[in-house]
Amino acid sequence: MIQMEFETKLLHGGISEDSATGATSVPIYMASTFRQKKIGENKYEYSRTGNPTRDAVEALIAELEGGSDGFAFASGSAAINTVFSMFQAGDHFVIGDDVYGGTFRLIDSVLKRFGLTFTVVDTRDLEAVTAAITPATKAIYLETPTNPLLRVTDISAVAEIAHHHELLTIIDNTFSSPYVQRPLELGVDIVLHSASKYLGGHSDVIGGLVVTKDHALGEKIGYLQNAIGSILAPQESWLLQRGMKTLALRMRAHLANAEAVFNFLKNEPAVAKIYYPGDPDNPDYAVAKKQMHGFGAMISFELQDGLNPETFVENLQVITLAESLGALESLIEIPALMTHGAIPRETRLKNGIKDELIRLSVGVEDQRDLLADLTRGFQSVKEQADDVANGKVHSQA
Ligand SMILES: *Cc1c(COP(=O)(O)O)cnc(C)c1O
Repeated sequence: MIQMEFETKLLHGGISEDSATGATSVPIYMASTFRQKKIGENKYEYSRTGNPTRDAVEALIAELEGGSDGFAFASGSAAINTVFSMFQAGDHFVIGDDVYGGTFRLIDSVLKRFGLTFTVVDTRDLEAVTAAITPATKAIYLETPTNPLLRVTDISAVAEIAHHHELLTIIDNTFSSPYVQRPLELGVDIVLHSASKYLGGHSDVIGGLVVTKDHALGEKIGYLQNAIGSILAPQESWLLQRGMKTLALRMRAHLANAEAVFNFLKNEPAVAKIYYPGDPDNPDYAVAKKQMHGFGAMISFELQDGLNPETFVENLQVITLAESLGALESLIEIPALMTHGAIPRETRLKNGIKDELIRLSVGVEDQRDLLADLTRGFQSVKEQADDVANGKVHSQA
């Protein structure tokens, strides 16, 4: 194998062509089973266990993250569930306090019933991480940057604590993609993704990916992937690999647009607070700069008191009001009412997620259209606030 740079790997890494025909796109192998010429000598036997199209995308993500083995699942949630299936009743986990809402739901409504226990901490606070470790702790599980406050944890520092206590470090790398951040290179053991976001990139596939640092861990995940069976189907595997080919092109555009949007928001008086790891005034800036290549393309911000975030998002015409992130098109949402609506208000406020918070996944549209659209949104909230002040309409707050 020759040495390749990351952007070349996207096209030529893993399994990038069909060995049977030379086709430059791995075909969608729609087959549930495979002929066995001699018993036990075949590469494939049954598509839950292994499928050539899924193999291709699994080999690719392993190479991109710099790990030993890659695995593709029916969703990011299925990937997370399979990773936690490595453990048993009584095992304890230190988990980030700002992880994906669906991960909390999985923990609360499923994993706890199977006897796994969790201590939730702000993983930026290394002393809190260490203090949460018990003799039963098996792993530290975190996201960085987090959702929706984009807090950044020092990955190598946490991995070091984990190694010291002989724990695994597991990172959900969805918000960065391997273009921006490669946790295995920083000492992490398992990286996982909702491939439904940046890796797929086109808002047209739901999938999940897992990469392990070494083959011993890979064997465990591979066993569970087959045993549990929440695999990525051949058609989705193909779609995902197709999307991943342009990851670098897309991320470059995402990152540049995010920076432009940040600079625009910084100068907008209607904005009270911005959460963006690339903000030099952000307390996590130095860590972000150290471990990320670029600062991601997620920006959250709060409007000034009295400005209605619903009015803002509903008056946009280019930026799409929708959950999800990491798509080519810019997506905007209000966490308190949408992605994080299931969290009790008190808990949510305690975690710093205000009612006014808006989360923006900056897409690859022409910057001028994005900024014009944001201007449209700000105009709408200011006009509404003026009308309220002038007694033309009653406040909706
Ligand atoms: C979306 C998301 C998930 C869940 O992935 P699905 O593909 O929707 O199941 C997990 N983690 C993060 C950070 C996400 O954004």
